[in-house]
Amino acid sequence: MRASFRLGRVAGVPVGVNWSVLVIFALIAWGLAANQFPRSYPDRSPVGYALAGLAAAVVFFVGLLAHEVSHAVLAKRNGLTVDGITLWLFGGVAELRGEPRDPGAELRIAGVGPLVSLLLGAFFGAIAALLALAGQDGLLFGAVAWLAGINVLLAIFNILPAAPLDGGRLLRAAVWKATGDRARASVVAARAGWVLGVLLIGLGLWQFLSGVGFGGLWLALIGWFLIGAAGAEERQARTGSALRGVRVGDVMTPQPQTASAEMTVADFVDHYLFAYRHSALPLTEEGRPTGLVTVDRVRGVPAERRASTTLAEVACRADQLVLAQTGEQLNDLLPRLSECADGRALVVTDGQLVGIVSPSDISRAVQHSTLRA
Ligand SMILES: [Zn+2]
Repeated sequence: MRASFRLGRVAGVPVGVNWSVLVIFALIAWGLAANQFPRSYPDRSPVGYALAGLAAAVVFFVGLLAHEVSHAVLAKRNGLTVDGITLWLFGGVAELRGEPRDPGAELRIAGVGPLVSLLLGAFFGAIAALLALAGQDGLLFGAVAWLAGINVLLAIFNILPAAPLDGGRLLRAAVWKATGDRARASVVAARAGWVLGVLLIGLGLWQFLSGVGFGGLWLALIGWFLIGAAGAEERQARTGSALRGVRVGDVMTPQPQTASAEMTVADFVDHYLFAYRHSALPLTEEGRPTGLVTVDRVRGVPAERRASTTLAEVACRADQLVLAQTGEQLNDLLPRLSECADGRALVVTDGQLVGIVSPSDISRAVQHSTLRA
């Protein structure tokens, strides 16, 4: 999920918002201000309803952010990289790179989010109780009580044992712990995600058709999203199990052709491009990789500027390169592959370039191992 704009950093993690979050924000604020509050607390001013609805929606999203930040903090503490947190149509998502190293880490990272939501629910519940004791049972009480309920609901929904929900991660951790097989555990959690998705669509359509309202369509939409996400996770898990035991050195293209960073794009197009059958060219300096040029990046340079543009200017820079070791498990490399190099990794031994791994090397390895199995 791409962030449309950045809000800033929380606990060192960039937090962004996708425009689609506005849809759900508006639905919540409007639903509270125009329906729920007027029904439960009649005869207040329209401004009062609007303010209470907006405030409750804002605090709800702050709570959602706290849920995601807790995932991010635990992920970092367990050695994973966190690319960022994005709020979007279906709530929040913390983008983690890499995989938890054991079921315990998976359990902690996944479990903390629903726990935070549950604690927030209890916190708002306590405030609502205090307000009620003090005789304050107006709009403020209504907003706080709604926040208590919605956070508990969020915790319960997220703990449903189905990928990609937090509960799916917990299920995966449990199956992983019991069988010692992470890939199989992922497939089980993904299948459960598919089942939950189908159930939600069924329930949602039934609600909608029986006239309960548009909430049913929302459930069906979430179910549809779950099915898509669960399918992607299952494919990823199957790739993972096909590649078990395969090392980077087994699939890499050894000793790739390289070029110097100072070469111009014009020279590259004239002398390399057609003689060279790969679509990426590592740049090296005394054998050390300093960048990676892809045909796509070269294509972006207008013809009249080719003679004055060096490869270094269009290459992925050294700090954007994904480096791997020959003895590394291919499965450990996959989550680290980045967009900049179109999913390629450079293989180094003692800092010297010895090979390159491209997406076609990886898909060939998957095909081979499925044939063998
Ligand atoms: Zn979560």
